[in-house]
Amino acid sequence: MTTLLNTLGNEAPRYIPNDPRPTLLGLTRVELAEALARVGVPEKQRRMRAGQIWHWLYHRGVTEFSAMTNIARELRERLDETFIIGRPDIVTEQVSSDGTRKWLLRLAPDERGARQEVEMVYIPEEDRGTLCISSQVGCTLTCSFCHTGTQKLVRNLTAGEIVGQVMVARDGLKEWPQQIEAMANPPSGGRYLTNVVLMGMGEPLYNFDNVKAAMEIVSDGEGISLSKRRITLSTSGVVPEIARAGEEIGTMLAISLHGTTDEIRNRLVPLNKKYPIRELLDACRNYPGASNARRITFEYVMLKGVNDTPEDARRLVKLLAGIPAKINLIPFNPWPGTQYECSDWDTIERFAAIVNKAGYASPVRTPRGRDIMAACGQLKSESQKVRARERLAAGG
Ligand code: SAH
Ligand code: SF4
Repeated sequence: MTTLLNTLGNEAPRYIPNDPRPTLLGLTRVELAEALARVGVPEKQRRMRAGQIWHWLYHRGVTEFSAMTNIARELRERLDETFIIGRPDIVTEQVSSDGTRKWLLRLAPDERGARQEVEMVYIPEEDRGTLCISSQVGCTLTCSFCHTGTQKLVRNLTAGEIVGQVMVARDGLKEWPQQIEAMANPPSGGRYLTNVVLMGMGEPLYNFDNVKAAMEIVSDGEGISLSKRRITLSTSGVVPEIARAGEEIGTMLAISLHGTTDEIRNRLVPLNKKYPIRELLDACRNYPGASNARRITFEYVMLKGVNDTPEDARRLVKLLAGIPAKINLIPFNPWPGTQYECSDWDTIERFAAIVNKAGYASPVRTPRGRDIMAACGQLKSESQKVRARERLAAGG
């Protein structure tokens, strides 16, 4: 059973059509201080004021300038005339029977006034809560088993839109520090959202600068303060950016491997034709910061009759020899029109046993939120369905 919590109808949209005011979300501290020049803050005060505003935005999670009570009313008014805080709007919020939540978000209008949508998923587990966020609208790559890959329309998300996803999730979970403090039974550790994975729509390494800026903000100790060890960037294998990602972004790394020979992987992840398995694994061996304490996750989607034999399993462990690795076996999540099927459960268990025997803890990722199409690789279809529903509701 699923519950639809919200629709745009009863949620006040945050964007006014043709609003020229830029958002403050996604700016670095230095950029924020510079922005304050526009509202007449004298140079000597800018750093201090930027620090205060940063605290309100990212530590307290306020959505209105009027809530920034240690800032003079006059300055708050000028801020409000000149900027918006600017999270994505929530179109729908669904809760699966297993507690997984999925939001369909509508982004601020782009230069042409178009409003793109992305989906975001929160997966609660006993000892953690993981938020899966997107880095692009659609994806320019065309992995044959991935629903997002069939979606043509692409633009990079801005840094503010990437951070904005985390902020909308914190709003929805009511876990800003002052909300947690007011709770009778607060979550241990003071937060529900303990981990972030860049595993929604898009290839994060094709939106490097914005992903980097956003992760800097999300991990900033005076704000959302999520450790980079609890953030995982998943890539389909953009080899030339991997070392840089380790040096400059510094999060945990996940690689969408899915095949153990170039022939199979070329079919599943066409980017493999450009950066074959060997080059990809060399980049992993050299990933700055990889160690036994900070292993690289290898994602492997189980596709019936394609990549799921015991030979595949043995080749997989051989390929990963010498890399501090974790293996994540993902049952394929089907979507309408796909040519693939998920491997049988026995086959997955046999595969997992071989991988385990080679010394890898290889949890099979239990599909979560399938009833709301929130599982890996299913993102996209719901937004189209919702659009269709909205069109119907609007009489066309
Ligand atoms: N573009 C990045 C991150 C987004 S995809 C990447 O490819 O790594 C996140 C993960 O979901 C990837 O491992 C991807 O291979 C996997 N995935 C995509 N479609 C899937 C499907 N239908 N079933 C299961 N996993 C899927
Ligand atoms: Fe893009 Fe990742 Fe999907 Fe491939 S698996 S099409 S890289 S989102």
